[in-house]
Amino acid sequence: MPRCLLVTNRLPLTFDENSNEFIPSAGGLISSLKGLNSKQVGFDFEWIAPTTQIYPYESGLPGHPVLIPKDIYQSYYNGFCNKVLWPLFHYERSTIAQDISGWENYKKVNSIIADEIIKKANFDDTVWIHDFHFFLIPELLKQKRPDLKVGFFLHIPFPSSEIFRELPQRKEILNSLIQCDLIGFHDLSYLNHFKRSVSRILGEECPVVYKRNWGVYPISIDTDHFIELAERDLTRQYLCSFQKTKKEMKWILGVDRLDHIKGLLQKLYTFESFLRKYPEQIGNVQLIQIVVPSRSDIFEYQTLKQEVEQLVSRINGEFGTPGKMPVHYIFNHICSAELSALYQISEVMHIASSRDGMNLVGLEYVASQNCNHPGTLLLSEFTGAHSTLSYAISINPWNIDETAEKIHDALSRPIEIRQHEMQEMKSFLMNYTSSHWAKLFLDDLNEFTSNKRLSQVPNEENFFPWMSELKNKKILLFCDFDGTLAPLHPTPAKVSLLEETKKVLSDITMNKKIDFVVVSGRDQNFLQDLFTKNNYHFSLAACHGAYSYLPDSQEWEHLIPHDSTNWKENIIEVFKLYTTRTPGSFYEDKGYAIAWHFRNSPEEFADFVANKLFVELEEALSSIPAQVTRGKKIIEVKSLHACKGHFVQHYLERREYLPEVVIAIGDDTSDEDMFEYLQNNASVKTFCIKVGEEKTNAKYSLKDQSKVDSLLLNILMNS
Ligand code: UDP
Repeated sequence: MPRCLLVTNRLPLTFDENSNEFIPSAGGLISSLKGLNSKQVGFDFEWIAPTTQIYPYESGLPGHPVLIPKDIYQSYYNGFCNKVLWPLFHYERSTIAQDISGWENYKKVNSIIADEIIKKANFDDTVWIHDFHFFLIPELLKQKRPDLKVGFFLHIPFPSSEIFRELPQRKEILNSLIQCDLIGFHDLSYLNHFKRSVSRILGEECPVVYKRNWGVYPISIDTDHFIELAERDLTRQYLCSFQKTKKEMKWILGVDRLDHIKGLLQKLYTFESFLRKYPEQIGNVQLIQIVVPSRSDIFEYQTLKQEVEQLVSRINGEFGTPGKMPVHYIFNHICSAELSALYQISEVMHIASSRDGMNLVGLEYVASQNCNHPGTLLLSEFTGAHSTLSYAISINPWNIDETAEKIHDALSRPIEIRQHEMQEMKSFLMNYTSSHWAKLFLDDLNEFTSNKRLSQVPNEENFFPWMSELKNKKILLFCDFDGTLAPLHPTPAKVSLLEETKKVLSDITMNKKIDFVVVSGRDQNFLQDLFTKNNYHFSLAACHGAYSYLPDSQEWEHLIPHDSTNWKENIIEVFKLYTTRTPGSFYEDKGYAIAWHFRNSPEEFADFVANKLFVELEEALSSIPAQVTRGKKIIEVKSLHACKGHFVQHYLERREYLPEVVIAIGDDTSDEDMFEYLQNNASVKTFCIKVGEEKTNAKYSLKDQSKVDSLLLNILMNS
């Protein structure tokens, strides 16, 4: 079985120095990963994690602990992970405390772990990095071990780019993450925020913006484990004892780590409001709030604990009666059997997180329910679980009044409705467990990397080996113009063909076995002047395939409905504004596309303006049949119909005779559509070649434009 190295901040078991034995590590991330079933996922898992403890190796350790000096670990973990990244990514900006050495030690720990992975990993192993503790590892690995498949999963939210861009280390983090072969998020909104941050902050520096190497994979739990746990003897003993104390009382359950993001204060205010609104419930309803100790050496967490405890005692002081306290507060860990019994016996589970990557407690509550007499889940809309648990009652924890009413509704929800809703959610979790989640992610990672690895470069002897298959075949050759047939030039109007290229093109014109089609973003006049008037009998596609020209008909044909460019006027206005503000820039109307060029502008300023413009256009065009793309020092808005993929499809369908081989060559983002269409759909042998070293859909690539002449020459010689 292939091997996957799981890189996490904790091993699944921690050595307890008091009892001298291993105990399960705490936390949602570990609890989900622990449930991975190797057989189901198709990988053998090995863990790698930092530790400050010297482990007794002979005790049969699960995974590889990497020893980090205590002071460095403390500064990395508390100083940067928990005091900077955690609050920023959860929109808790008031609790951020930048400490100068934190970042330095974060880099150190990432580098120590990366070195350890490099030592341990065999050729072709998969490395799956988990969470915000290790943002810098992907780049470190790819520099030294490009053979490794590297996936990254973020277990916390990715914040809006408005927040993320405040982070001083934003570029280092993004530049590392984009090196991954696949990055996964729990929720589409997190992915969108990440993409927005990449285009705003890295802009043109990022060669992979167009390439889909990210996805949404909401995590799940080991559902069978929770179902089985609910039936255990120990769990039943807890249930019996709870039933005795609870009697007719209704329980609202809360299980949260002590953390600002869990909305503990809002939850308590809501319960207080509920008791005030519905005084008849005083003495009949109790909030059982388990608070699991966490990050107790951070001042802000100590303060939060005090605030929670003061509020609990205020509510109990005001609404309590002898023997009946409305809030039952426990500040401790509880064992899994006790937790399962609480999940089963409580009428309502209340999750009030202000931001929470997923919130596994919600999923565990559902998995533990007996669907004959289930409870009801109140779930904050600011959790990742909100997109998974379709029948939970959705709450905005900031809306105290409304949530108090929803508690009342939840407590009086009819049994048939509860049964139906819980059954639906539980069946979903039975069919989508943490092993399914891991399999989806790792299968995609594998697919992305295997596609990319095929991108072959030519060798000196026979260029591409497949060229021997071209002999006597009818070849259809699609070729891009700027950056492919001709080198890029600061002024697009001045671009012309080099003498050597002209010679090869003349030979191609004479060769009746090659049907040569220039597929360009340029307009009709430019292409006709350059090719037709110079006696190259090629088919032409102008404006990314919006217009087509066949040498026999000698006419341009419109391939796109006329009303598909109604948006142009508005975009021209925007481009005019940016042209005025950005010295050296200009815009070009290409018919079905408008391009804004800034290659002659002051670089840093123009890049900044371009990033902003790109983001604004993406937002503005979301409901219009036009698409904004970024090329090299250019932003282009074009009709969705004007796409090289559509054009090659149209061209292939219109031909009377099918070619025996199709070749496509291009350097730009717009050529990716063409590669993708041909590789997935053409029914004949297809070879797609990317000019340049950026990531691509094409299976083959050339180093740069200067190699295109010899590529064409080799095609000619082999045909
Ligand atoms: N949990 C625990 N000990 C306890 C109470 C809860 O280990 O005393 C577990 C709970 O079963 C769940 C995890 O802690 O698996 C909490 O995960 P969640 O995603 O809800 O929150 P996180 O703590 O990861 O922010």
